[in-house]
Amino acid sequence: MLIVKKFGGSSVANKERIFNVARRCIEDYKAGHDVVVVLSAMGDTTDNLIEMAHSINPKAKKRELDMLLTTGEQVSVSLMAMAMQALDVPAVSLNAFQVMMHSTSKYGNARFKRVDTERIEHELDSRKIVIVTGFQGINKYDDVTTLGRGGSDTTAVALAAVLHADKCEIYTDVEGVFTADPRVVKNARKLEDITYDEMLELASLGAKVLHNRSVEMAKKYNVELVVRSSLTEAEGTVVKEATKMEKLLVTGVAGDVNTARISVIGVDDKPGTAFVIFNTLAKNNINVDIILQSVGREGTKDISFTVASDDLEQALEILEDNKERLTIQEITYNKNVAKLSVVGAGMMSNPGVAAKMFESLYNSRVNINMISTSEIRITVLIDEKDIDKAMNAVHDGFIMTE
Ligand code: ADP
Ligand code: ASP
Ligand code: MG
Repeated sequence: MLIVKKFGGSSVANKERIFNVARRCIEDYKAGHDVVVVLSAMGDTTDNLIEMAHSINPKAKKRELDMLLTTGEQVSVSLMAMAMQALDVPAVSLNAFQVMMHSTSKYGNARFKRVDTERIEHELDSRKIVIVTGFQGINKYDDVTTLGRGGSDTTAVALAAVLHADKCEIYTDVEGVFTADPRVVKNARKLEDITYDEMLELASLGAKVLHNRSVEMAKKYNVELVVRSSLTEAEGTVVKEATKMEKLLVTGVAGDVNTARISVIGVDDKPGTAFVIFNTLAKNNINVDIILQSVGREGTKDISFTVASDDLEQALEILEDNKERLTIQEITYNKNVAKLSVVGAGMMSNPGVAAKMFESLYNSRVNINMISTSEIRITVLIDEKDIDKAMNAVHDGFIMTE
């Protein structure tokens, strides 16, 4: 059997944990399996590197940032190989260049295009545990790239897909996927299983337990994932195509404080206005999320929308530069907002989910600024200060009463 095992930053944060991971991998190896290990940078390494970069140059180029950030994963894999060798097990560490993990050119947010298997297969054939750097790729300029924060999960799924692995296990610091972030919602429950679609929504809406692109890729290549703890033996959560017949109304609740609201005030109330505004943002790679348009008055209207906090500055600059062409009279924004979402495939056939969510928010006196829905989710924009209270209220409103 070929097993891909991915361990996140907290699972390799110090020497003791590195040996803990080494032993867990060696168990599978000694049982006769081929083992490929994907690692993230140790503990808070990536955050610390970003901070260091910004202290030197707040406008550091993304190419150089990627050059810096990819060192974190290289530290983990080499130390892990040394740990396994210290335990008398043959192991080899490889980075994205050595494996040849080809990505798009976009620094900071690259996507895999093609991943070679030759080197890994060769090392596995000589009965080594193969340890690969997560989060990184190489682009057509022979530069290193990174896949976006949390991207090591995607490395693991990509390798599981191209190597046709029998198992892909994502080890982290919680025991699986919960009905909400267990660090925020004390009544959160561990899920036995969850569908790709539900997990993709949750991950995209702020549940960082899995990188959203890893779920997208797992669905595409039909890689079943198990999310579990590196510190306990508890059974984790299986992420797969279909789960039990009977669906809970709501599978999970997610919060995302990495959100900002922008409003463009007094734009022309005529066809094409929204098109030119959002087209201008899209051309500059700014992803827009919830959109709300006011009723027109005296030939003008206001449009509000949300963007990721990291994109706020650039979005404001673009709007300011194009103010006249976009007929904008005034631009306002608010960084102190958060998205709260409920997700569940059971929602499709059940009216009243939105009403119930709003009731929970009302009961805890949380004001709703904007609302958006899809077939399997409802998202509201609220004040950032309310997010923990609101997540607990909405979670308990749905999940504790079922
Ligand atoms: P790793 O370093 O192992 O990749 P992450 O910090 O990226 O770990 O992801 C694990 C964290 O995700 C947990 O510590 C938890 O706080 C958070 N999280 C958010 N939403 C959920 C959820 N629905 N279920 C489990 N964990 C969640
Ligand atoms: N080390 C990277 C990060 O912190 C990648 C990962 O953890 O998956 O974002
Ligand atoms: Mg992660």
